[in-house]
Amino acid sequence: MANAVLVHGGAGSPNSMSSVLDDILKNLKFENNVLNMAISPVMSMEDNPLFNAGTGSVPRIDGSIQMDAAVMSGKEFGSVICIENVKNPVLVARDVMVKSPHIMLSGDGATQFAREMGYGYYNPATERSMERLKKFNEETTKNGMPDKFKFLEKKSGDTVGSVSRINGKFAAAVSTGGAFPMLRGRVGDSPIIGAGIYAGEKGAVVATGIGEEIARNLLSYRIYSQIGEASLGNIVKKEVDSFTVSCGIIAITENEYISYSNTSMAYAYREFQ
Ligand code: ASP
Repeated sequence: MANAVLVHGGAGSPNSMSSVLDDILKNLKFENNVLNMAISPVMSMEDNPLFNAGTGSVPRIDGSIQMDAAVMSGKEFGSVICIENVKNPVLVARDVMVKSPHIMLSGDGATQFAREMGYGYYNPATERSMERLKKFNEETTKNGMPDKFKFLEKKSGDTVGSVSRINGKFAAAVSTGGAFPMLRGRVGDSPIIGAGIYAGEKGAVVATGIGEEIARNLLSYRIYSQIGEASLGNIVKKEVDSFTVSCGIIAITENEYISYSNTSMAYAYREFQ
């Protein structure tokens, strides 16, 4: 059972972006720490403005940028929900898990916790992400539709995620700006245990796609709980194929791994001896 890391660039990300992910994994230094091996590539993706996580996160329709991130390993879990103005939400999620007595922190409390942990102010907006909002505002106004709720159905993703298997242990990490377009305060699946992320002694699972539907199905835990009952490929395909909205999964177990989605989805996998 080789040590391994599997990452994705989000449901909807072009398959051609897999080469960016390959490079990230090529540069990943091996550590005998399963959590760090899941978190490090997510940090790299947060720092790359191509992805909807950290720098380059999509804005809410009011123009603010609120990000979600989560980590899980063993029975330990930590997440931040709607955190603002930090560079690497996944590191704050790790600190929630490792340094706080809580499992989830949201909104102002999450941002304040980040400052207390030493993470300074950082504006994750990019021209590209704000352009998306501008276009949305133009479209909704042009069509004489002041009611933007009508447009909230057209959602897209590009969240990032990672699962790792190191010396028989498993970890998962996920980070997202959310599924555009969305209201301020909206929470998807990514920071919710069992919905967008789950890891335990049988493996690790991370989801991407339309968070509302993924969370309604408690998708990550649902897949995790079936590990061992059939091949991982069959379990994941059956679950993802039942979705009518965009949905993707990466998962790793003791001797299998899979990246599967009902849309395009960049991914990369690397083994470490
Ligand atoms: N699942 C994320 C969310 O709904 C979006 C994504 O995966 O791209 O917030």
